[in-house]
Amino acid sequence: MRKLLILGGTGEAVALAKAVKAEFGDGLTAVTSLAGRTKAPTLPLGEMRVGGFGGPEGLTRYLRAEKISAVIDATHPFAARMTANAVAACDAAAVPRLRLDRPAWTPGPGDDWHAVPDLAAAAGMLPGLGARAFLTIGSTELAPFKGLSDVLLWARMIEPPAPDALPENCTVIEGRGPFSLDDELDLMRELGIDILVTKNSGGPAAAAKLAAARRLGIPVVMVERPPAPPGDSVPDVERAVEWLRPFVR
Ligand code: NAP
Repeated sequence: MRKLLILGGTGEAVALAKAVKAEFGDGLTAVTSLAGRTKAPTLPLGEMRVGGFGGPEGLTRYLRAEKISAVIDATHPFAARMTANAVAACDAAAVPRLRLDRPAWTPGPGDDWHAVPDLAAAAGMLPGLGARAFLTIGSTELAPFKGLSDVLLWARMIEPPAPDALPENCTVIEGRGPFSLDDELDLMRELGIDILVTKNSGGPAAAAKLAAARRLGIPVVMVERPPAPPGDSVPDVERAVEWLRPFVR
């Protein structure tokens, strides 16, 4: 039976595993791979494996041992290491690879976005922009925000960070999206937020905070995406399913 490896950790990966089952039934087995960072991940349909492969060499060995017919890299736009490993391993094992990459957000009328290359640059920009920042970043990404004594921080994340990873002036808000525009407006108003810091993850599930910032006239410090990998890329699950058809026939 044909086997597809989905590199996951995103809503798109879960939706893809579901679509593969619906479209191809037993004609294609989808194995979704998770890094194992989240304690209670959304479980995908089909098979699942958890944990790193051991770099590009480990992934190359896995692709050969499991006789994988195709790989769809549906990892988060900022999971750059896994994406680079997938490029190297698929080349080495001669396995076709597709990148499923949700479109990036772009600023519209009324937006006040400040593009930065990384979170260190984002942290450096805060003191000049405001005093009460809302961070929507990962629980392991707080280090650059330590020592910002003039700025109060609220960090929303799925799971709390390790206690020593939390900047002294930072309050954690635990939450898993999607969030509505009303949710985001209420939260930002209640906390008196005057800056939003986020990564350009793209997609509709996390976009309401940007609309809320626009509505409230709040500047957004936007961390730009790492470069896209070479090769085929599609923006949605439907087109990923189309890409798979030749492997199933
Ligand atoms: P990363 O820096 O690109 O990858 C670090 C290492 O984690 C990889 O070298 C790999 O270990 C392992 N890994 C990552 N994704 C994996 C997967 N799907 N299956 C098996 N191993 C995986 O990744 P990250 O930014 O820490 O993200 C980790 C996971 O969280 C990803 O699956 C990503 O889709 C998801 N995620 C990331 C973000 C984000 O902002 N970065 C946000 C939401 C979800 P080996 O080298 O040992 O194979």
